[in-house]
Amino acid sequence: MTPFLKVGILSIQGDIEENSNAIKESFEVLEIEGTIIHIKDFHDLDEIDGLVIPGGESTVMGMLLFFQGVQTDLIKKKIQEGLPILGTCAGLIMLSNKAYDKTIGETKQSLLKVLDVTIERNAFGRQQESFESELDIPYLGERRFNGVFIRGPAITEIGNNVEIIAEYDKKIVAVRQNNILGTSFHPELANDNRFHTNLVKLMVEYNRSKKRT
Ligand code: GLN
Repeated sequence: MTPFLKVGILSIQGDIEENSNAIKESFEVLEIEGTIIHIKDFHDLDEIDGLVIPGGESTVMGMLLFFQGVQTDLIKKKIQEGLPILGTCAGLIMLSNKAYDKTIGETKQSLLKVLDVTIERNAFGRQQESFESELDIPYLGERRFNGVFIRGPAITEIGNNVEIIAEYDKKIVAVRQNNILGTSFHPELANDNRFHTNLVKLMVEYNRSKKRT
């Protein structure tokens, strides 16, 4: 029997609805019952089976997390303990250990520092240089995946436990570190829910392992 899943979406800023829709469609495809919890402030995180951090603006997200009292220490602890998580674009930046920018160097923004990567912000240019490209991502299967890049970051350094799952123009644009998935692009805008579906599958496993312990 499949469990009833509770999926958190960090709902501070960014493309929250698009991620909610992608998760709901994944529930349908996998025939899983579940609900979405919008995490904005002191919401109890104990109950969630997974989390999505959407794209948006990582500096604003980092600041608002603090002002709105989101329990970032608890989020971090749960991720380190195996909570499945997907960070897209600004969400990937939020997960990273270190972020920098070509013009100002290391940014002093608030980061969760759970994913062992260094990020270059806006590595593909500004808003008007946004683009889409079909990516080969064996992790998702043979069919290529439409990468939507909007002021996306590139991953410039990775730790030993980080697996590269996609590259574009010799830059790393998607990684996995156990329960953590991060993409430079926006899978929630791709009309293809395979990232979200894989995340939901990881959540089913996580939910089962919670019950066993
Ligand atoms: N450039 C943005 C940042 O640094 C990310 C852009 C996005 O999420 N589309 O946070």
